[in-house]
Amino acid sequence: MHYHIILTKECNLECAYCGGGSDSEPKEMQYGIPDLKQFISQDDDPVLEFYGGEPLLRIGAMEQIMDEIPARYVIQTNGLFLDKIKPEYLRKFHSTLVSIDGTKEITDMYRSSGVYDRVLNNIKLIRERGFRGDLVARMTVPRDTGIYENVCHLLSLKDPGFNHVHWQLGFEMFWEDAEPGLETWIDEYNSGITSLVKWWVSGMKRTGKV
Ligand code: SF4
Repeated sequence: MHYHIILTKECNLECAYCGGGSDSEPKEMQYGIPDLKQFISQDDDPVLEFYGGEPLLRIGAMEQIMDEIPARYVIQTNGLFLDKIKPEYLRKFHSTLVSIDGTKEITDMYRSSGVYDRVLNNIKLIRERGFRGDLVARMTVPRDTGIYENVCHLLSLKDPGFNHVHWQLGFEMFWEDAEPGLETWIDEYNSGITSLVKWWVSGMKRTGKV
């Protein structure tokens, strides 16, 4: 089974669509590592995914869990503290999902100035330090940003590049009151998805790889 371990709800960023983690209580883990270990030991094939807020604000707790509990490990992080993870822990990660929203302009506009460059520097660093797992660009797609060009941008990055791109919409379009321009953007989004599907299928035909 897949378990999300919320190491803290605090965050070091204040992204435009989030505002900096969550204010809801409890903000910190409410159980000890021995209890977690006992609970996880009932599972033959556990996947533990560190999540936040920003999980690397609690890197000590993360290391302790990884030392104590045999599992497959995944982390979702904003990427700014990836350089703080020691190589022996980096090598234990099966997957690392790093928040980046597309081009430098889009990423820095929504996440903070300089974030794009720091994320790219840090993913290069973790590859150099021995992380061999799946590196996933974890996009948030705010309204009025182009899905096609931003996904293509992330997939075009090399040395290092991302293995996959995963995105979610940065607002709850189906629950929000219809704002002016929303329907137009939804049409543009759907058109961008169609372009991505065409690009993906043509790539499979050309290379034979699925
Ligand atoms: S990095 Fe994630 S948790 Fe932190 S402010 Fe941005 S969206 Fe919110």
